[in-house]
Amino acid sequence: MPSLTGQVALVTGASRGIGAALAVELARRGAQCVLVARTQGGLEETDDAIRAAGGLPAALLPLDLQRRAQDIDMLGPSVVARFGRLDILAHAAGVLPKLTPVAHIQPRDIEESLAVNLTAAWRLIRTCDPPLRAAPAGRAVVLTDAVAAAPAPYWGMYGAAKAGMEHLVRCWAAEVATTPLRVMLADPGAVATGLRANAFPGQDPAAMAGPQDVAPALADLCEAAEQRHGETIRLGR
Ligand code: NAP
Repeated sequence: MPSLTGQVALVTGASRGIGAALAVELARRGAQCVLVARTQGGLEETDDAIRAAGGLPAALLPLDLQRRAQDIDMLGPSVVARFGRLDILAHAAGVLPKLTPVAHIQPRDIEESLAVNLTAAWRLIRTCDPPLRAAPAGRAVVLTDAVAAAPAPYWGMYGAAKAGMEHLVRCWAAEVATTPLRVMLADPGAVATGLRANAFPGQDPAAMAGPQDVAPALADLCEAAEQRHGETIRLGR
């Protein structure tokens, strides 16, 4: 029997890139996936890939984590109402509006970065904490970036939001340390996705890992056998 049979996974950023590949891998391992992103067509493509891999048909939840932020609050109860449980939160949604000097950051851009990269994590934790604590082996994996811990020119808008998100996730991990829930930050390293292409348009995607290359290691973090907690797991390093 696949290792995640009977488990329910909520995956954000599931319309493309790392979140989509991770959702397919979790479904391949038997999880019932609930897919979140804005783009209905992208969610449908991920669902098609899940079915082609032999996974259970996914539930699709088109949602803008910035513009409909208050709807995030219903995710935990909605998943439990439909599937009876929530075992895995895989939060891969992220945005890199643009690379720019701190002094040139525009309000609209930093609002988007803070909403998607930081505030959405808080709302997801808030709504998913009760069912994840109640699960026999709840797992939360939140995608981060090395730049959060290593400030670099032009990366401030994205890095500051990711740093805030990391702080929040580590505090949450400390708060649930005595429960079965294991909480991890995961830095995937350089992966050929749309986000990466925006930051480094000159890089050859063929010379980099693809989302499907990092998905198995990220899915491993969602398994009951994974006991690390409150750590940042840096893939490939
Ligand atoms: P990506 O291909 O650009 O995918 C980003 C995902 O986030 C998409 O599914 C997108 O879906 C979703 N998203 C963005 N804004 C959203 C919003 N307002 N509401 C709902 N969903 C939204 O990026 P990726 O490279 O796979 O990144 C995944 C995660 O890994 C991110 O947290 C990123 O910071 C992190 N990361 C990536 C790299 C890398 O090299 N790729 C390195 C370090 C860390 P829609 O557009 O359909 O909404």
